[in-house]
Amino acid sequence: MPPPPRLDFPAFPFTPYPIQSEFMSFLYAALSSGPRALALLESPTGTGKTLSIICSALQWLVDHREAAGRGHPDQENGSATVAGGGAGDDDEPDWMRDFTPLLPKPENRKKTKPHPARRQEPRNAKDSEKSEGIGGNDSEEEFLLVEYDSDDEEGTRRQSGKRAHCGGGSSSESEDDEGEEDEAEVTPKVYFTSRTHSQLSQFVGELKKTQFSAKLRMVCLGSRMNLCINNDVRKLGSANRINERCLELQKNKKSSKIKVDGDNQKARQAKISCQCPMLRKRSLQKEFRSEVSANGALDIEDLAQIGKKIGTCPYYGVRDMVPAADLVVLPYQSLLLKSARESLGLNLKNSVIIIDEAHNLADSLTSMYNSKVTCPQLRAALSHLEAYLDRFQNVLGAGNRRYIQTLIVLTRSFQRVLMSGEDGSCAVTSVTVNNFLFSLDIDNINIVKLCQYLKESNIIHKVSGYANKLIITQDGASNLNHQQQHDEGSTISSFQAVANFLRSLLNSNVDGRIIVARQKPGGQPEDAYLKFIMLCPEKIFSEVTEDAHAVVMAGGTLQPIEETRLRLFPSLSTSDVKFFSCNHIVPAESILPIAVTRGPSGMEFDFSFGSRRSPAMIEELGRFLCNIVTIVPDGVVMFFTSYEYEKQVYDAWTASGTISKISKKKCVFREPKNSVNVEGILNKYKEAIQSCSEHSQGTGVNGALLLAVVGGKISEGINFSDGMGRCVLMVGLPYPSPDDVELMETIKHIGNHSSSSTVGDNNSLSSQYDHECTVEPGFDTLRRCGKSGREHYENLCMKAVNQSIGRAIRHVNDYAAMLLVDSRYSSTSSSRSLSCPAEKLPQWIKRRLTCGKNYGEVHRLLLQFFKINKQMH
Ligand code: SF4
Repeated sequence: MPPPPRLDFPAFPFTPYPIQSEFMSFLYAALSSGPRALALLESPTGTGKTLSIICSALQWLVDHREAAGRGHPDQENGSATVAGGGAGDDDEPDWMRDFTPLLPKPENRKKTKPHPARRQEPRNAKDSEKSEGIGGNDSEEEFLLVEYDSDDEEGTRRQSGKRAHCGGGSSSESEDDEGEEDEAEVTPKVYFTSRTHSQLSQFVGELKKTQFSAKLRMVCLGSRMNLCINNDVRKLGSANRINERCLELQKNKKSSKIKVDGDNQKARQAKISCQCPMLRKRSLQKEFRSEVSANGALDIEDLAQIGKKIGTCPYYGVRDMVPAADLVVLPYQSLLLKSARESLGLNLKNSVIIIDEAHNLADSLTSMYNSKVTCPQLRAALSHLEAYLDRFQNVLGAGNRRYIQTLIVLTRSFQRVLMSGEDGSCAVTSVTVNNFLFSLDIDNINIVKLCQYLKESNIIHKVSGYANKLIITQDGASNLNHQQQHDEGSTISSFQAVANFLRSLLNSNVDGRIIVARQKPGGQPEDAYLKFIMLCPEKIFSEVTEDAHAVVMAGGTLQPIEETRLRLFPSLSTSDVKFFSCNHIVPAESILPIAVTRGPSGMEFDFSFGSRRSPAMIEELGRFLCNIVTIVPDGVVMFFTSYEYEKQVYDAWTASGTISKISKKKCVFREPKNSVNVEGILNKYKEAIQSCSEHSQGTGVNGALLLAVVGGKISEGINFSDGMGRCVLMVGLPYPSPDDVELMETIKHIGNHSSSSTVGDNNSLSSQYDHECTVEPGFDTLRRCGKSGREHYENLCMKAVNQSIGRAIRHVNDYAAMLLVDSRYSSTSSSRSLSCPAEKLPQWIKRRLTCGKNYGEVHRLLLQFFKINKQMH
């Protein structure tokens, strides 16, 4: 019998609006319908989506456990519970009385996997190799590889650890020895994932407003970039360098040689200590965990602070707390990338997975599995491998020598294929994995074993370390700073890029394509690259969802649902997916979306590719803006389709005096291309608006204008609430460039995929993948691809529009006008052969959309709108 529906959510800290109650009830019912439930919830920004998710999903978790304690049939799916029954106040659920998870009885106890560092240290070194044959140069011994034999199954097993780190580990790895029981794995859990750290911090902030903050165990996982507290590592700056350095430190654990008896061989037994001082004392990691547990919900900044205060690594500290957590808050990569999940030891079985900001989930999933290696990286990796083999070949065992030679052969082949375009032959081609291997004559190489070797042998760090040493020695620059040694084209980054690309060759023909971008005559070497692009998000998504109790995708707008279904869960029918879309919390009178078709002189606005550069069109747009800035108070944000077009318009307006005219009413700012400068410009824009609202009398200036670009920093993630954005203008339709090779491959795949699944003919699909093709000019591809492919192209455009204009309304008392400046926004499906873009606006905007047939009508509507809202607010 299904559990009863829930209509009240006591954890919600305010009286919920009706749409919030509906949202919570829907989500609760969806979770109750598990296992294998899939729900999509669409709720515009500012409607309290995050708080609603917290209060509904965590309430479900609590009720579910309570029901399990009472033997509710809903629990009969084999999931374990956090707390057993106990005596006490019957009004309180068991989990509230005793929040600390009870360890299961010994015979039933489910142990987490031990840290690999607690296992035996990998592979015994061949002492003969170690001590002889490197010319007595002890300083180079550290670069030697231990012998490797891929057929040694036992050895392989020993090396393939998960959650590999030396933090919080056993007595063998830390300086202070203490025994400790592993914590019990608590299931089911709720996993909440979002794109950025700031979104995760926002989630934690909302969680703190509820009783669940103190009642449930939560951990927030962050990246090393955000949580590393080793200053020597932090100063490397980029996320890649920090990750690499941290892993390097751990691969270079100090170990003392101890002879051990037992299996009749000499062995290097570990008394290992990590080279990062922040992980040496296990007692500090324990103290860290206690302090975090005692403080309730903590975000990444809080965790970093506690780590610094105690002097222990918070990155690894929180990882150790995952098994006992009820709620795990983590970035996309950590949950959606298989290797990251495995490294963290995440157990998704029977859990609830909530994916926020899921509007571009399919593309986010595929981009995580893409890999790219450039020509300079191949050149660097090749020279480092050759130098390494040259130096150590006499002391390396046969296994290592063979694999290094194979790596050299492959890297040379990759380089050759990129150079073959220098004669002016086609610069960019796309090819299947098999054809790529055949064309390079490397199809006889066992890539599986090679990748295993790369993973297990520590070759990347050894070769890169030796290359770094050579760089220092050759330059005579022992004081070469870290920055130079770990530059973007650094030794380790180059080798890592080659290794990642090799790994992608394990994919099948239908999973993705390889883009071969050869160097054009006179072009830069960096322009030549090999890239694997993943085309099958459904395959990746199914690995995440297969064992989960329920998966929830949430976002401001998730439309079009059919495309999402097709790309992420094509085996489900639309009726299998639970979809909820709620109206915006703001009253209808608070928004004014208008499709602006004509300018003040009556000229039709057409910003399509062929006409947008016309000087007459640009001047008409300028006249329109000059009028708008006199009517709209405070901030106006105008979005252009590209930086290049924004510059062309700005330059033309400067020359014609339009910018001077606008400056009499608004201070003018432009979005910088360099993201580092965005914050400074935004602050100036805000200050200008604030100072105008405080002392506008006499100056005539009534706010500020910001010229921004769709797809830039400002169009995503920046809020223009209240006076910061009383009017947002979208100039034209921001279709992606048809020259984007990867996009065209995705479009072809979606078009083929949908038509082949419609007719049930998989052979036609694979035959299309079986030959190399030159990437066609984009418009041809669009004409020839299936309907779903074209739909995808248009959807990308309208998703970008929705993202940009949605920036202006952020809370219930906000109000803003949204001007869609292009006659194509007013087209209906009956009037044009192409689809109607306005149909793809979010419901809450579409319902209010008005078509401004002429400028006079637009002017009148705006005057009326701001007059009414000024009185109301
Ligand atoms: S172990 Fe922690 S503190 Fe040390 S380098 Fe790695 S992330 Fe930084």
